[in-house]
Amino acid sequence: MAAGVVGSSCRVECVARAVDTWYSYGRGYAVKGVSLEVYEGDRVVVMGTNGAGKTTLLKLLAGMLKPSKGRVYLCGYDTREVDESLTARFIGYVPQNPWLLVFNPRVIDEIAFTAKNFGLDPAEAEASILDVATRLDIVHILNRSPYTLSEGEIRRVVLASAIVHKPKLLLLDEPTAGLDNVLKDRLIETIKSLSRDYGVALVLATHDVEILPFLRDFRLVVLRDGAVAFEGSVGEALENPSVFYDSGLQPPVGVRISEKLGAYIDFYGVDPVANLLLSRKKLRDRICR
Ligand code: ATP
Repeated sequence: MAAGVVGSSCRVECVARAVDTWYSYGRGYAVKGVSLEVYEGDRVVVMGTNGAGKTTLLKLLAGMLKPSKGRVYLCGYDTREVDESLTARFIGYVPQNPWLLVFNPRVIDEIAFTAKNFGLDPAEAEASILDVATRLDIVHILNRSPYTLSEGEIRRVVLASAIVHKPKLLLLDEPTAGLDNVLKDRLIETIKSLSRDYGVALVLATHDVEILPFLRDFRLVVLRDGAVAFEGSVGEALENPSVFYDSGLQPPVGVRISEKLGAYIDFYGVDPVANLLLSRKKLRDRICR
């Protein structure tokens, strides 16, 4: 159910609400009957195999696509009824390919563009740019051309642009793609602290199951062939690997190892497995000495 349209301010608690939402690009449906509510301060991770409909769902939640059937409400506005420019200020969106959003000569212009576009006054914009740049560790590259940056740097710049106007909802499509493990961990921590400190709800789409153990406090939505196959906590899914297998995903490696160990223990008993592990450790210690 939608809250009324209330001018330019967002007064409702539910930041985004998809109600039996379907989307078709022309043939079949990419998103099928998805209902999802995202409240202030919520953190949601959307998982699914390639083609499961994650990007399409994110674009629907961003108001960039209008549902073919059903409704999406953003801060109370029905996205089918209002122009995207009205709801855009509530949203920070980082696409899978961050380069799609880059077009200014310097990093600082890139971030300032969003700030100006969403009506921050110059003093407010300056303070906000400095704050996000500091948090994302990009102060030293503010005067660089975005086209000279590394993958990790450009991802942080585009994230800074997406959040500088303090949106209500931050949507991130595969934010860790192309990053090494150290950068991945760092980016996830930064995203979490930004969403907490800015009070922005977060929806993150990924098929990288290995980041799940770092998102234990997130709600998990698994899409299979455009429809919601599971909705619950990340912790719940990690305890129940069939959530992953049923949707064509593999659980994180830690879960798979414990599954395998469990199966070996069931078959051989605890002592033989423990001895095997210990002897491997002894062997490795000897080799590495
Ligand atoms: P990935 O992990 O590979 O990015 P995804 O889960 O984000 O996949 P979507 O990109 O939403 O999935 O695609 C869902 C379905 O919609 C796929 O079958 C895809 O081929 C189709 N699709 C996506 N974009 C378009 C488009 N612009 N035109 C036609 N079909 C599209």
